[in-house]
Amino acid sequence: MPHVLRVALDTPLRRLFDYLPPEAGGAAIVPGMRVRVPFGRQRLAGLVIGSAADSEVPAERLRPVLEVLDPRPVLDTALLELLGWAAQYYHHPIGAVFAAALPRALRLGAPAAAREERWLATTAGAAAWAAGEPRRAPKQRALLGLLAAGPAAAVELDERAGPWREAARALLARGFIASAEVETQRAAGGATLRTAGPALLPGQQAAVAAVAAGLGAAGTFLLQGITGSGKTEVYLRLLERVLQQGRRALVLVPEIGLTPQLIARFRARFETPLAVLHSALTDAERLEAWRAAHGGEARIVLGTRSAVFAPVPELGLIVVDEEHDASFKQHEGGFRYSARDLAVMRGRLAGVPVLLGSATPSLETLHNVSAGRYTRLALLRRAAEAQPPMLKLIDLRATALRAGISTPAVLAIERHLAQDGQVLVFLNRRGYAPTLLCTACGWIAPCGECDARLTVHLGAGRLRCHHCGADGPLPTRCPVCGFTVKPVGQGTERLEQSLGELFPGVSIARLDRDTVRRRADMEDVVRRMASGEARILVGTQMVTKGHDFPNLTLVVVLNADQGLFSSDFRAPERLAQTIVQVAGRAGRGAKAGEVLIQTEFPDHPLLTNLLAAGYEGFARVALEERAQAAWPPFARLAALRASAKSPDAALRFLTEARAAVRPPRTVRLLGPVPAAMAKRAGRHHAQLLVECRERAPLHAFLGAWLPAIEALPSARALRWTLDVDPIELF
Ligand code: ADP
Ligand code: ZN
Ligand code: ZN
Repeated sequence: MPHVLRVALDTPLRRLFDYLPPEAGGAAIVPGMRVRVPFGRQRLAGLVIGSAADSEVPAERLRPVLEVLDPRPVLDTALLELLGWAAQYYHHPIGAVFAAALPRALRLGAPAAAREERWLATTAGAAAWAAGEPRRAPKQRALLGLLAAGPAAAVELDERAGPWREAARALLARGFIASAEVETQRAAGGATLRTAGPALLPGQQAAVAAVAAGLGAAGTFLLQGITGSGKTEVYLRLLERVLQQGRRALVLVPEIGLTPQLIARFRARFETPLAVLHSALTDAERLEAWRAAHGGEARIVLGTRSAVFAPVPELGLIVVDEEHDASFKQHEGGFRYSARDLAVMRGRLAGVPVLLGSATPSLETLHNVSAGRYTRLALLRRAAEAQPPMLKLIDLRATALRAGISTPAVLAIERHLAQDGQVLVFLNRRGYAPTLLCTACGWIAPCGECDARLTVHLGAGRLRCHHCGADGPLPTRCPVCGFTVKPVGQGTERLEQSLGELFPGVSIARLDRDTVRRRADMEDVVRRMASGEARILVGTQMVTKGHDFPNLTLVVVLNADQGLFSSDFRAPERLAQTIVQVAGRAGRGAKAGEVLIQTEFPDHPLLTNLLAAGYEGFARVALEERAQAAWPPFARLAALRASAKSPDAALRFLTEARAAVRPPRTVRLLGPVPAAMAKRAGRHHAQLLVECRERAPLHAFLGAWLPAIEALPSARALRWTLDVDPIELF
């Protein structure tokens, strides 16, 4: 009976490929190992997913595997299952999904374990050494002596034997020594506790007990608590248990920016090897970190989104910090997965608990709690005994503005500075001004590639598009009428300048993507704030995360209104999360905090409800609204998105796609519609939404629909992707 291997290859085809086992060593192949195979005229590295008794491919066309690349699987059974599940759930080609899970070097066939060059003395060499040879070559004699005492890695020889290569060549030529490439032996990392940590508060104790009782079995927990309530301390205690049991943990964070602090806290608590995986690593660094995880050397694997695919032998716990964060969703390329959702699935397949932490959980997660699927653990009090901050709205219609800052806000800043507090002013718009306007003819500097205005960057003397990256010189005159132009509106750069004028002599720090390009820039801002040298911090979304400034007592949110009237049904949720997260920056130390939110809509129910009933109250109302409108989590969504250079091609393609397969009665197709910003980076974007109350019919439909879409001639003429559970609609 012919026996074939089923292999995943990184191609756009939605299938596995069959190969015959190699002439020798085929019996040892198990799923999860990589093999090199012929594919057309290429040779590709692929992953063995399984085997079958026979193949649909005629026997004479089956080709054998060229080479087996691994002595043991690179992905364990639970990960193989997870990736197979992800390929189905996200309707993405299985080979591409497996490729996304491996570092590039491994996709190209690099060894899964680090190798090293080792040298040893042969029997003849040992005998020669004993006989006192080689007599007239002291360097050779020294090296032979060293190796006769025991084999050594080339790196050790570099350290111990000075320049030894020439002597080695001579000894090698006489057959006295030999070398080999072998796998570097890595000891599984140990784990010792450096310090015990503080006595837990009752809420923390209950949370640790609940999850600890669940170790060894699948289960999803939501750890809900405001910033500073001690969530990280709960993670640390659970990691301690997991490490004690000789197991390993996977910890996911939304952004690289959050890794240094967490790493510092892990290192302060445990003496144990960590592997850190994030998008800023070079291919070589990523391979090294992956190997440390795969080989079991690392006991804690910490990383951003794609680390959800990291191999972690004897996994004991998965933590997803800031689970509501949009960065967990891959929003580029074809494979648009949610790392948070995959983490939950991974925990289920691996039989380990998953702990989702957040001050502002996503409505999906809260819904899963109400439905009894997740267990909620709440931390109510602030760990460091601080008071929760007091929130107040400032009615922009009733107050004078100076450079975008209302009089009550200016007075509050003065007051807090006078009391030696620090102040955070939040504005989610970088640059100097969002618009460059000609006051004579009304011309506004547009981006040539997007339906968007160019942002003024005064310090740099540039006009930039924040959507496509277009970058040009800042004109002083209107290109249409020749009159002078002026920047209109506020960005963080201008805000920093205006605050400098309002509060002369007060040192101001700014945190946005223009001031923080490298990690050192971020550390610099943090140092200035922590030392008290900087008194006011101006920043975008970047300031909402991490960093604890105990002396920060006032937060001013300059413009809360951007999210109030968006067409995206998730905009209110994001706004509420942002406000709560920014507000959480205030009063983290001993002093009470104050939060001022400037708005033109102080009666908007979202804001009044958020202030009166907190995030909990907001979430309750928002979930009711979602239920009524049949939006997620009360329905399932997928978005088919397309973009093309010509204005109508994307819409035409989506119209054809819509007509390609008739959906069942329960599945609704909404659109196609042009994106709110239809033109971006020179391409015209449009989308078609697929909605259904139930998951199963939606996925059955998508499964039938995609092959029909792929068969459309227009599908090859433009870019399109399917986004299952989209979180950003446009
Ligand atoms: P979160 O992760 O929710 O923001 P952290 O775990 O970072 O909260 O805790 C906030 C601060 O309180 C930290 O400085 C932490 O060291 C401290 N802390 C946490 N738990 C306790 C505790 N049980 N007793 C005293 N201090 C604590
Ligand atoms: Zn003009
Ligand atoms: Zn642009």
